[in-house]
Amino acid sequence: MAIYVNRVLNMKHIKAIGFDMDHTLVRYHSDVFEELTFNETIRKLVTELNYPLEIEKFEFDFLKAVRGLIVDMEYGNIIKVSLYNKIKNAYHGGRELTYREQQRIYKGSSVDLSEERYLSIDTAFSIAFTVVFAQLVDLKDNKPELDLPPYQEIAADVLRSVDMVHRDGSLKDIVTADLDKYVIKDPETVEALERFVTYGKKLWIITNSDYNYTRALLDHTITPFLKNHKHWSDLFELTVTLAAKPRFFTEKLPFLKVDPETAMMENWDKKIEPGIFQGGYALKLQADMGLKGDEILYLGDHIYGDILRLKKSCDWRTALVIEELDQEVQAYKSTKEYSIEIDNLMAQKISLEKEVDDLYAKEHEFKQSVAKDEVLAKFDEIEKIDRQIGKQIKQYEKHFNPYWGEVMRAGAEPSVFASQIERYACIYMTKIADFNGYNPRHYYRPKKRRMAHEM
Ligand SMILES: [Mg+2]
Repeated sequence: MAIYVNRVLNMKHIKAIGFDMDHTLVRYHSDVFEELTFNETIRKLVTELNYPLEIEKFEFDFLKAVRGLIVDMEYGNIIKVSLYNKIKNAYHGGRELTYREQQRIYKGSSVDLSEERYLSIDTAFSIAFTVVFAQLVDLKDNKPELDLPPYQEIAADVLRSVDMVHRDGSLKDIVTADLDKYVIKDPETVEALERFVTYGKKLWIITNSDYNYTRALLDHTITPFLKNHKHWSDLFELTVTLAAKPRFFTEKLPFLKVDPETAMMENWDKKIEPGIFQGGYALKLQADMGLKGDEILYLGDHIYGDILRLKKSCDWRTALVIEELDQEVQAYKSTKEYSIEIDNLMAQKISLEKEVDDLYAKEHEFKQSVAKDEVLAKFDEIEKIDRQIGKQIKQYEKHFNPYWGEVMRAGAEPSVFASQIERYACIYMTKIADFNGYNPRHYYRPKKRRMAHEM
């Protein structure tokens, strides 16, 4: 797969490359992992927050959510919006809202995402969160006798449960007990990393996971595939665990040094040196390593946690790993014929509309009589074409997510998710192994963007 470019990035100038671990350096079998998160979240809702046992019957469907959706916590809706905050699809719980319902609820189908009722769900657990929330909304509607709390409270409870699952080790214990089930082994990632080192780049890990989990995952996915190094800790100059991103990029948290054998820690006020640390902050790391911000490239999978703050408070360069991209690009390729057919039909429609305009001009400007039937016949033809376009769009959309369509687009415009990628990531890719298609000192240049008046 290719690497896509939003802003010029000359890898020759990059001296250090930092990696987030979960879903960036180490990829998961996402459907299996999200299902685990889904089940554990439900368990927390029942055991910790007193939700009815009935919710244990909920079934997980990985396709029911995509990254970048927005939850309207007040109305129990889940919506996908464009870069201009225009709603493209909307569901109330698991039921799709008609265009008319959307219009009624959202008065003109645009939303102001800065309102508190909207929750943007671009987290590592967005799929599990959304699927649990949607099913709880349906349950509340269908069984008022259960007396479930208002939608807003349900959303907060699900968030809390997801957070608990994430923090208290429930997920990590299950994952480390069966790594092959949840984690992808990819020798090509290791090949790309070692190639960077051959070209003199320093590699860092900056992860929010703790040292023991980090060690378990890297022992499994990196060390077995190394050719020029003995152990993952030789490959990475520096590993920062429990980094508390995005605060790592904005605050001054203390560094602790971790002993790799015993996992024991000591306070570390001295200069940062190669090794394994916990906590700390970006600006000290950068200064102690004697680097300028734009000599560091940081790769993550999470726009808010990894990239957005970093871009705003440090001047490190940024890259996003977006696992959905692969499928999305394949779908674009296999739907080319529909796109061409839709363009052809649109051209026919435009020319018919021009003919209608000409008939009106004849009547209004040149005061000649025009037969009503002639105009109506043109409208009939336009309607026929609209139906054909509709059919082609349905065929096209079948190749993407069956409920939400494209992840990166909301109709003719980029989705809000895609627009954040454009804004905050200098380059983006499906996986780290995609670097193997380029020289480690490659000069990434974006294509010139054409504006409306240049087309
Ligand atoms: Mg991550």
